Amino acid sequence: MRQSILKSKRIVIKVGTSTIMYPNGSINLQQMEKLAFVLSDLKNQGKEVILVSSGAIGVGLARMSLTRRPVTIPEQQAIASIGQTELMSLYSQFFYHYGHQIGQVLLTKDVTDYPVSRQNTVNTFEQLLIKHVIPIVNENDTVSVEELDHLTRFGDNDTLSAIVLELTDADLLVMLSDIDGFYDKNPMKHSDATRFDTITEITEDVLALAQDSSTKFGTGGMITKLNAAQIVLESKKHMILASGEDLSILFRILAGEKIGTLFASPDQSNNNRKDDSE
Ligand code: ADP
Repeated sequence: MRQSILKSKRIVIKVGTSTIMYPNGSINLQQMEKLAFVLSDLKNQGKEVILVSSGAIGVGLARMSLTRRPVTIPEQQAIASIGQTELMSLYSQFFYHYGHQIGQVLLTKDVTDYPVSRQNTVNTFEQLLIKHVIPIVNENDTVSVEELDHLTRFGDNDTLSAIVLELTDADLLVMLSDIDGFYDKNPMKHSDATRFDTITEITEDVLALAQDSSTKFGTGGMITKLNAAQIVLESKKHMILASGEDLSILFRILAGEKIGTLFASPDQSNNNRKDDSE
């Protein structure tokens, strides 16, 4: 099944805040630059690349020299607004350094509920990709407060990245996390946890394995990743959950190496994007 990954042409990569921020709240410039380097090189190889990046609040806090996330949602929205411009400014500089243009796409998850909005979004992505621009996507926190509501970063953009895969008819979603795959129990709590190589279906039993949380919010971030995987499987596409610690892992994933956990339907011998011509 991993062989089909080699044929992936259009790829959505999702990074969480923890991939681009240090635990002390500062921006991890090394990681951001590495991300720009790896994605630019994949683009040079002929892949179409779409980045879904969290981090607006984290970067906003750093920019405003705040050590703690504000409690009220409007304040968080303001911080996200400040952080988003800073985030894009940094990405713009790093990608420019490697010879690539980026375009910002801010979305809300309900975009698929409205046919006109959906079509406009699809059109924007298509034009950006035709023009060899790398779209960088984030939740529009000014409009949608869903992700801000729980005062934590869990789940940030997981579902959105699956929606982006569906909207762009991409072949593969690579979800980079603080964990290197999906396990039979929470590996942060159980040293004997075993990683799954492949998951073919998101059943109730699979969902139950993600319940054991290390956060006080009850689910950890794994549930939203499985929800994203569900959308990906329904679209008959692939998702790989892997660690974002060393971003060159993306080269190895796309070379078909057995890394992380692959989510793919058993009947998928190949991805099935309609216009898969080289
Ligand atoms: P990120 O912020 O990197 O997107 P999260 O921290 O939100 O990711 O979610 C990943 C976390 O989910 C892991 O660090 C782990 O503590 C927790 N988790 C709960 N159940 C599982 C499981 N079955 N397999 C892997 N991780 C799990």
